[in-house]
Amino acid sequence: MPLGIVGEMMNEVYFDNSATTKVDPRVLDEMLPYFTEKYGNASSLHSFGQDAYGAMEEARERVAKALGAASRDIIFTSGGTESDNLALQGAAYAMAGKGKSIITSVVEHHAVLHTCQFLETQGYKVTYLPVDKEGFVSVESLQNALTKETTMVSIMAANNEIGTIQPIKELAEVTKEAGALFHTDAVQAVSKVPLDMNKLKVDLLSLSAHKLHGPKGVGALYLRKGVKLRPIVYGGGHERGLRSSTENIPGIVGLGKAMELGMSEMDESVARMTAIREHLIKRVLETVPRSHLNGPVGEKRLCNNAHFRFDFIEGEGMILHLDMRGFAGSTGSACSTKSLEPSHVLRSLGLPHELCHGSLRLSLSKFNTMEEADRFIEAIGPIIENLRKMSPLREGVSYNVATVH
Ligand code: PLP
Repeated sequence: MPLGIVGEMMNEVYFDNSATTKVDPRVLDEMLPYFTEKYGNASSLHSFGQDAYGAMEEARERVAKALGAASRDIIFTSGGTESDNLALQGAAYAMAGKGKSIITSVVEHHAVLHTCQFLETQGYKVTYLPVDKEGFVSVESLQNALTKETTMVSIMAANNEIGTIQPIKELAEVTKEAGALFHTDAVQAVSKVPLDMNKLKVDLLSLSAHKLHGPKGVGALYLRKGVKLRPIVYGGGHERGLRSSTENIPGIVGLGKAMELGMSEMDESVARMTAIREHLIKRVLETVPRSHLNGPVGEKRLCNNAHFRFDFIEGEGMILHLDMRGFAGSTGSACSTKSLEPSHVLRSLGLPHELCHGSLRLSLSKFNTMEEADRFIEAIGPIIENLRKMSPLREGVSYNVATVH
């Protein structure tokens, strides 16, 4: 439901594409027959079943091709969260005989962090690598943390909050030299950062359709040939026994098409989003006093991410005011927006608790325009000014977390 209080749908400008994206009409067109006419179960022997099976295998080809992988390497799942769980738990259990040490970073999505915390309760040792002020994991810190007992390293390809693109090529190389598996959560990176499994020493990679103009509730795990996993869902033995449950054919077809379009249109959409992002960052920092950018600048930042911090501002109020003016943004990652706890990512950059609250993430898609960015730039200054007039948080008045929430 829109937050707008004026009654009608107010969000005309959607800048929350890291939370989820609009389904591309070309993706929807390919999916529709699999709900209404070709609704067979891919395991059935009749022609309905064979149609469904054929569509699933074509989608697998498309996903594999987009990653420079073989179709056998692709396991369909229900989304990024399940792919992360299958990668981490599946590999941890399969390799428990070799060692029980896992390395990850403090800025991972909760799908990775909470899975690692669960694994700690099962007797695994997890090392959480710190990041620098821009959110980067250093290759040296990983090198220092790797031991003979390390079985797996999981570092995200790009951060969902501040857009930091990690040096996964180098991180994967040092991991492989130490004889461990390398997993990357590439949910935000796919279709924005080239990810070629022939060039990267990545063993496992998670992705999700709804972040790239595909449907919700479907994703995939890339699994390099020879990597052993123990399933975390048991049943009819679908997906090579690694992920039982009748396959979500319309969703899988949508994921395949979204991946195909994501790859064929990547250069053009990255260039477009980068230009809009640069314009937004430059003009917001120039026109709004006491505004700051979180995360890195330039090429090492996701093309669609602009993450600001405004002094003396309380994030939820800002989102509501923006919503009333027709702009959809977010205070942090969508998954943590409902929580009043400051984002673990911002905290790990060394920002004090109270400064994290005045943050705004704008995340673009290929459907956004420069004109929308200009409308936003015009609107944000007065909104911040008005909120500051009402805010108990002002220069000379010390922050008190209890007054914030
Ligand atoms: N990993 C990252 C980096 C994400 O941004 C998200 C979603 O926000 C997920 C995992 C979870 O993906 P899904 O919503 O498909 O479960």
